[in-house]
Amino acid sequence: MAVPKRKTSKSKSRMRRAANWKYKASNMVECPQCGEFRRPHRACKKCGYYNGRQVIEVE
Ligand SMILES: [Zn+2]
Repeated sequence: MAVPKRKTSKSKSRMRRAANWKYKASNMVECPQCGEFRRPHRACKKCGYYNGRQVIEVE
């Protein structure tokens, strides 16, 4: 059975995980309430609005 020759270094595994960490701008939509970019199908982090009404408390 094929087995990796070397243990994956901390650096390598961290680099791999870091590569897909950040959300791309392409899957962000503008909030109609405040104009802030947010993830689609998620309440806006800034104003707490989703689908025209406030769903989460934001101060
Ligand atoms: Zn908003």
